[in-house]
Amino acid sequence: MTIKRIDQLPLAGKRVFCRVDFNVPLNDRGEVADDTRIRAALPTLRQVLEAGGHLICASHLGRPKGKVVAGLRMEPVGARLAELLGGDYRVLVTDEPAGDGARRVVAEMGDKDVVLLENLRFDPGETSNGDGFARELAAMADVYVNDAFGTAHRAHASTVGMVAHVDCRGAGLLMMREVEALGRLLGDVERPFVALLGGAKVSDKVAVVEHLLQRVDGLAIGGAMANTFIAAQGGQLGASMVEKDSLDVARRVLDKAERRGVELLLPVDAVTGPSIDAPEGQVEPANAISEGQMALDIGPETRAAFRDKLLAAKTVFWNGPMGVFESPAFSAGTFEMARAIADSGAFSVVGGGDSVAAIQRSGLADSITHISTGGGASLEFVEGKQLPGLRALEE
Ligand code: ADP
Ligand code: MG
Repeated sequence: MTIKRIDQLPLAGKRVFCRVDFNVPLNDRGEVADDTRIRAALPTLRQVLEAGGHLICASHLGRPKGKVVAGLRMEPVGARLAELLGGDYRVLVTDEPAGDGARRVVAEMGDKDVVLLENLRFDPGETSNGDGFARELAAMADVYVNDAFGTAHRAHASTVGMVAHVDCRGAGLLMMREVEALGRLLGDVERPFVALLGGAKVSDKVAVVEHLLQRVDGLAIGGAMANTFIAAQGGQLGASMVEKDSLDVARRVLDKAERRGVELLLPVDAVTGPSIDAPEGQVEPANAISEGQMALDIGPETRAAFRDKLLAAKTVFWNGPMGVFESPAFSAGTFEMARAIADSGAFSVVGGGDSVAAIQRSGLADSITHISTGGGASLEFVEGKQLPGLRALEE
């Protein structure tokens, strides 16, 4: 597959449509509460501006479900973008994501103007990938750049539909980084390759687990996900989260790991509490949790075993916290695994919304080779699925 990088595209004098991820959190005054995603897009946007392109940015924000929602307008995002771009750039936010008004703003934009289209998901054609909306977006662009990896697993008008109607297309810098780092996990990796999986549900992750079993040398499972595996082996889980519907799936994964000779590590001890709000926990055997208690973090013996595996690894993929890391009483397992990955010096990729939040909070983000910005998109990529937004960019 060949996807052009932004620096291989003609930009000077062109109207360059950048599909970015400006889906930022807003505070209760409607201001941008965290501008990480806007900052992350700046290198790509600057590349367009420095090459003399006319920059049109487009993103969705929240879930307006095809209608105009006043609290989800792009105006505060545009204000922050203008501050971050600095210089004397003016950011013009259109009244609608497409249509006559938007077209006019683009037609009349000056050299120091950047256009930010109104929230793409105000139009029902965005998520339905409606051809009419896709063509309206495409009509504003000479060149299409996708830098929004987090939506690349969705076939929407701005990620797929419009792309066929624009002559030139390629990937922005963020997108390229994701494809390169995640792509490395699917190629010839340095071994041992160890995957650390956790998080809430087996059912969310079973496709990734099954795919990883064909690739990894070791698989360590923690988080609530581990409970279902331990229950499948006949363990007593007390009041822990167990997915009864996934017990068969868990057994199948255990069998498959054994057949393939993949070392599968499950917790041997757990930090338990009566609820996720408990101020502190106690350590119990992972397969003999007392009645009324929940396994809410991996215990110290498990951490030591997982840590040894991670330290020996040359390639690591991590998705899913080891426990309820949002609470200090149950965060140690997750943070110790972050430390172990940092100490391993392995080529390391962390993906998943909560996992990334955990790694940021651990203060060890700089020691991780690649922090993937896509939640669902990262997992689908690692599953080996072709992402529609990437396929659309192929030449
Ligand atoms: P990601 O977003 O990284 O893919 P998930 O959404 O699958 O991760 O899981 C994250 C959530 O799982 C967190 O909110 C965390 O509190 C919860 N979690 C992890 N371990 C447990 C556990 N043992 N019991 C209950 N919830 C857990
Ligand atoms: Mg999550």
